[in-house]
Amino acid sequence: MAAKEKTLHDAFYEMLKDVYYAEKQSVKACKKSAKAAEHAELKQAFEAHAEESAHQVERLTQVFEIIGKPARAKTCEAMQGITSEMEEDLEDFAGTPAADAVLAACAQAVEHYEIARYGTLKTWASQLGHEDAAKLLDETLQEEKKADALLTRIAGRINAEGAKAAA
Ligand code: FE
Ligand code: ZN
Ligand code: FE
Ligand code: FE
Repeated sequence: MAAKEKTLHDAFYEMLKDVYYAEKQSVKACKKSAKAAEHAELKQAFEAHAEESAHQVERLTQVFEIIGKPARAKTCEAMQGITSEMEEDLEDFAGTPAADAVLAACAQAVEHYEIARYGTLKTWASQLGHEDAAKLLDETLQEEKKADALLTRIAGRINAEGAKAAA
């Protein structure tokens, strides 16, 4: 007997569970980064995005509702990898002039993963005829892009300041 055929809808649900896990992890990572950051603007960016991310978790539960499936989290190996790199970097660079630059870099890896995933989820939601879900996913996608752009701007400044301090 042939294996049960999996549909795009199944793929969508699986990715949603993965992102649900990843987003919850990202709330924790933002809070941790906010505590660790020295630079006021960077700290503020992490605090704001931690709050925003908590809303993104809520939005995901709405998407689960829309597709009529239970909100479940499935371990995201990618986000676990990114956050364990972050832990390691935090330890290695704590208290050094490069600490904030390293924090911002880790955070951007998180944002880029999220951007990739929400982009796909949004496209799939549309293709599956779930326009209301696509709209919610796009709201989050735009927030992730803004968070990444802000980190790019802040990184440009802290790196210049760090280089001056190191000179
Ligand atoms: Fe997020
Ligand atoms: Zn559906
Ligand atoms: Fe994942
Ligand atoms: Fe994010």
